[in-house]
Amino acid sequence: MIIGLTGGIASGKSTVSALFVSKGARLVDADVIAREVMLPGHEVLAAAVKQFGSEILSPDGTLNRGKLGDIVFQDPAALQALNNLTHPAIRREIKERMNSMEEEDPKKLTIVDIPLLFESGLENMFHEILVVYVPREVQIARLMERNGLSLEQAEARLNAQMDIEAKRNKADYIIDNSGELAHTEQQVAVLWDRLGLS
Ligand code: ATP
Repeated sequence: MIIGLTGGIASGKSTVSALFVSKGARLVDADVIAREVMLPGHEVLAAAVKQFGSEILSPDGTLNRGKLGDIVFQDPAALQALNNLTHPAIRREIKERMNSMEEEDPKKLTIVDIPLLFESGLENMFHEILVVYVPREVQIARLMERNGLSLEQAEARLNAQMDIEAKRNKADYIIDNSGELAHTEQQVAVLWDRLGLS
């Protein structure tokens, strides 16, 4: 059983994924994979160096994220080129990992945490999608608090993503993470039962 998990920035995807893991689910984390493909020795990093030049590397051979950011965030064509390099590799790796987990034990739940699942058009990879929801105001407050951002900075980050209400409308399952953590935990337990995992 595989469920794609998504939500908005700072809506609590990691928090809810961890609650599922604590109940015995397996986790595939797209953010972790996205970092792995840019580690030294990986073919995606090599392709990025070929595309953007060795100035995107630090002297020790690791990716200089600031440098790469400077290049792609002021040039939409460069950002597109970077996405064309990274996205297929990340997608492939997600599929491989979730399929091998599923083969290992199909009755166990696998949660695949993909922050930009809808924005990247990955809905079809999953039969069922769970959205971790909090209203926009809560999202902004938690993002400001966690990342030390101003209201304007937090709003800019939210505006770069699909609206959380639109995501909620596309969900098969919704976990509302706007209340106390115990309330979120309770919803996870209810869904766990509903999926016949207890
Ligand atoms: P990102 O989009 O950056 O990956 P995320 O969706 O994984 O974030 P979390 O990191 O899980 O979100 O949570 C965002 C912030 O909100 C964190 O600082 C977390 O501690 C806090 N948080 C999460 N759930 C709750 C809750 N129910 N009550 C209060 N704070 C919470």
